Amino acid sequence: MLEWATSVSGLRELLAPDRRVGRTIGLVPTMGALHLGHRRLLEIARRETETVVASIFVNPTQFDRQDDLDRYPRPLSQDLEICHEAGVDIVFAPTAEKMYPQAQLTWVEAPPLTQHLCGPGRPGHFRGVATVVMKLLQIVQPDRAYIGEKDAQQLAVIRRMVMDLNVPVTIVPVATVREPDGLAMSSRNQHLNPAERQTATALSQALFAARDLIQKGESSPVVIQSTVAPLLAGIRVEYFSIVDPEMLHPVPRIERLVLIAGAIWLGSTRLIDNVTGSPVSVPI
Ligand code: AMP
Repeated sequence: MLEWATSVSGLRELLAPDRRVGRTIGLVPTMGALHLGHRRLLEIARRETETVVASIFVNPTQFDRQDDLDRYPRPLSQDLEICHEAGVDIVFAPTAEKMYPQAQLTWVEAPPLTQHLCGPGRPGHFRGVATVVMKLLQIVQPDRAYIGEKDAQQLAVIRRMVMDLNVPVTIVPVATVREPDGLAMSSRNQHLNPAERQTATALSQALFAARDLIQKGESSPVVIQSTVAPLLAGIRVEYFSIVDPEMLHPVPRIERLVLIAGAIWLGSTRLIDNVTGSPVSVPI
């Protein structure tokens, strides 16, 4: 049966019996408006852990634009239904007041990982993400936490945070779930009008094309960027970068596995996506 808590103490009470008998706990942190991407995370958590906790919290400290926070979808009863279907045991859906009962004076950040990609365009975003994930890890104390590769920079920051601060949790990365035409599933896709929705596929197409070029041996990021640029013609591109998958800084040449990541704007909606690419090893 699905149980849910809206306060930290309520959640801890619900989890106490499971913790006492040593059941493994899986955490899937989300901001709600659940789609098949979230669903994949929940399913894997369900398979791998005994008690699955999904958090649903639209975290104000990670929003750099008030309009984005205001219009972020919050279909809570539908989300609870999805959690129920996915076999979640406990939903943690606190209010902002419960998560931030007083001014937050302590923050977690990893500045070297946020100098590129989404960092410059979203000041304070990753500080908000890292801090709320740290809070959720402290509140739930899961054995495993499931994070989507769709948000590759977020995943890199969380992985590093957990290592640097010795947080006793295993971070499990989950592959991006896509629409049949390649568009990465995202809660923000529902803001797109039909024309924008059609245009949105250009980002994944450009990423796939870049990955193919790398696989065929192209090692120059500049050549790759200019070759795929026509696929993004007419679109406001915030960045389209080829970076080291761990440190997230642009690479001058592609010699090993890289992360290819992009952000585009369609009207007032910002979409991100990424894939990894690696040169095929030449047989000797
Ligand atoms: P969000 O609700 O957008 O904060 O996302 C919650 C979690 O779901 C994060 O770990 C995301 O990376 C992950 N996620 C979001 N979209 C997808 C997707 N299309 N495929 C896989 N995971 C996703």
